[in-house]
Amino acid sequence: MKDHFQDYVREQIAGVRLAAESWTPQRVLSWSFETFGNRVAISSAFGAEGMALIDMASRVRKDFRLFTIDTEFLFPETYTLMDRIEEKYGIEIEKVYSVLSSQEQERIHGAGLWARDPDRCCSLRKVEPLRCKLSELSAWITSIRRDQTSVRSSARKVEWDAKFGLVKINPIVDWTSKQVWRYIHDHDVPYNALHNQDYPSIGCAHCTRAVRPGEDPRAGRWPGLAKTECGLHVIDPVAASPAAGASKAAKSAS
Ligand code: SF4
Repeated sequence: MKDHFQDYVREQIAGVRLAAESWTPQRVLSWSFETFGNRVAISSAFGAEGMALIDMASRVRKDFRLFTIDTEFLFPETYTLMDRIEEKYGIEIEKVYSVLSSQEQERIHGAGLWARDPDRCCSLRKVEPLRCKLSELSAWITSIRRDQTSVRSSARKVEWDAKFGLVKINPIVDWTSKQVWRYIHDHDVPYNALHNQDYPSIGCAHCTRAVRPGEDPRAGRWPGLAKTECGLHVIDPVAASPAAGASKAAKSAS
C-alpha cells in the first residue's frame, strides 16, 4: 500500500508540473487535496492573496487544513481577522510558534532583535517554526504571486521545494493584485482592516509600515532595509530536479 502511494505521488508530480501551469486555482486546489489528503495544508499570513485562496479552498473542501506562523508580533487587526476566518469557514487555524517566546528571545538575544538583525529574528520566529511544521506534511500551499518580488518571479504552480523537502503548490502564482481584489469583492471575502489604511502587504508590526503614494506595494515591509523576504520563499541554491523532488515527496508522504 505504502509503495503504491509512493509511486502515485512520483507519477503525479512528474506528470502535472507542466500541465498545472494552465489550470485554474480551483483545479490546482482540487488536485492538491485529492493527491495529498490531510498531508497538505495552506500556509497563510492572511494577506489579500491568502484570503482569496482560503475562500477558494473552502469551496473545494470544507475541512481543508490551514496554518499560520504566529510570531507573536502580528498586528491586532491580524489576530481579529484570524478569529473571523475560524468563524466564517468553520475551521481551526493551526498556529505555529517559535520555540522561544518573545520574552525568551529578548532575554537571550536582547531587546529589538528585529531592528538589529532581522534575518536572525525571522529565522527564529518564522523560518525554523515553518521548517518544523512542514516536516509533518507532504505538500504545502501558498498564495505567493510571481510579480510580488524577484525571488518569486520563477515560482511554478506545482514545484519541488528543495529548501524544505516537500511539494510546494502556488495556485494563484500567475494572478495579479487586481485579480485578487476582484475575487475578494465578488465573493465578499473578509480581509485585514489594515488594507484600508495603506498597508497593501502586512507582516509583523515591528517591521511593517503603511506605504506612501507611488511606493511599491511591499515598500512597507522592512522599511529602510534591503531585506524583501522573511526567508520562507527564498530558494536555496540546491539543484532540485523534478525527479529528485518526486522521490523525496514519495518518502515524506509515507
Ligand atoms: S518580520 Fe520582523 S519581527 Fe517579524 S520575525 Fe521577521 S524580523 Fe522579526
